[in-house]
Amino acid sequence: MKTAILGAGVSGLALARALVEGGLDAADITLFEAAPVAGGLCRSKVIDGFTYDLAGGHILFSKQQKILDWMLTAGGGPEAFEKRQRNTAIRFEDRWVRYPFENGIGDLPEQANYECLVGYVHAWHQRKLTGSEAPPDFAAWIKWRFGEGIAKHFMDPYNEKIWKRPLEQITSEWVAGRVPDAPIEDVLRAAVGIRTEGYVHQSVFRYPKQGGFQAITDGMAADLKARIRLSTPVDKVTRKGEGWSVHGEEYDQVVLTTPLDLAAELVEGVPPDVKAAMEGLEFNGLVSFLVALDTPEQPDLSWCYLPHPNQGPANRVTWMSNYSQNGAPEGRSSLLVEITCSGREVQPGRKLEETTLLGLENAGLLRRDQVLFTDRSDVKRAYVVYVHGHETRRRKALEWLEDQGLFPLGRFGRFEYDNSDQCVEKAQCLAKRLLRADNLPA
Ligand SMILES: Cc1cc2nc3c(=O)[nH]c(=O)nc-3n(C[C@H](O)[C@H](O)[C@H](O)COP(=O)(O)OP(=O)(O)OC[C@H]3O[C@@H](n4cnc5c(N)ncnc54)[C@H](O)[C@@H]3O)c2cc1C
Repeated sequence: MKTAILGAGVSGLALARALVEGGLDAADITLFEAAPVAGGLCRSKVIDGFTYDLAGGHILFSKQQKILDWMLTAGGGPEAFEKRQRNTAIRFEDRWVRYPFENGIGDLPEQANYECLVGYVHAWHQRKLTGSEAPPDFAAWIKWRFGEGIAKHFMDPYNEKIWKRPLEQITSEWVAGRVPDAPIEDVLRAAVGIRTEGYVHQSVFRYPKQGGFQAITDGMAADLKARIRLSTPVDKVTRKGEGWSVHGEEYDQVVLTTPLDLAAELVEGVPPDVKAAMEGLEFNGLVSFLVALDTPEQPDLSWCYLPHPNQGPANRVTWMSNYSQNGAPEGRSSLLVEITCSGREVQPGRKLEETTLLGLENAGLLRRDQVLFTDRSDVKRAYVVYVHGHETRRRKALEWLEDQGLFPLGRFGRFEYDNSDQCVEKAQCLAKRLLRADNLPA
């Protein structure tokens, strides 16, 4: 069986490795990658001794120990990684509010703390009283789950910043496991100043000592180098007998980690209703700025969220230099700033940098005289946006491709809000299916 994998991000690389580990001859696998470097959204950049992740700060964690171990091994073994305690906060005026917000409301000014607490209790009481189901609309879901106070002080402004749409347009389908869900006792404790921990599966994370998050995909790609065609975008996948033609070569099976919303351009013969479903999938892009700073002094934080408009367009700032001591040169430090933009709009121009730095100054996160330089990276597809009808469109698109015998995989290949560990897990599942089809022991 000859297999073509379109895209050498973490999904494509994990699949190729799992196929080889399962007994497929590496010579029968070809990865086509449009970019000159493998890694996709996991890529990093080292510039003047500063390291940053191109698609916003990435950390390695997983609910699945086996997947975590597999990725640590691929990235050079556990000793090649820093192990860090997640320490995150929300910047609220001039103070730090511990994250998740409902576990940190005791850090708020008194009036805001009261509003958040009373709203949370009221929402909890309403749910108990009425037994109401989670509303499908994200704006309504926020108030249903957290109440008016947390909606006003954090959830609404933060989510409007990141999603770039009225929240009524978004569904609550994606929140399970992604938006922390604190028990009411923890929120009561937090409000009176007793420390509680939320979102614990992410409380310890790993980060490569050298080379940024890309060290993981570099490790995955190392044994596959001869099988990866870099700078080779595939623009057509066509039927050829029982198999497929990709880039003028014949393959028995084709895996697409390329964007599902573009699949109608890639694959021949997509019917109009399926094409409309594919093209109706929505996403947000991302601009990341590295801000290199001429100071070693930084708060002991992994990252912080910036919900408020006077903090500028950035929604999140990561202290990359806190992830690894090799992240910045001696005596210096860095911030990685993330700004989302609606996917189908042109990415904001140069003025963005100025308004971003101004916002960070307002938020008290940097002084302008400390900025050595900035470096910008743009990513066209960063976030899947779960607008109403998303799941129906996604299913229709995937089912059609799968009916043709094609295998969609990956964050934008399947249009799912997956982290790299979930991409690896799904790649390993697909490998088992493909190996079974090839009569190799899975
Ligand atoms: C802001 C942000 C923060 C994140 N934080 C984390 C985190 O902390 N931890 C974590 O584990 N994950 C995180 N993720 C998620 C993680 O980046 C993704 O889940 C993962 O990188 C997706 O990998 P993929 O291979 O599925 O897709 P991609 O990385 O998008 O790979 C697809 C590849 O296909 C190539 N390609 C596209 N079109 C073609 C074509 N026509 N021909 C050939 N090649 C093509 C692309 O160049 C790309 O290399 C984050 C993502 C974002 C955006």
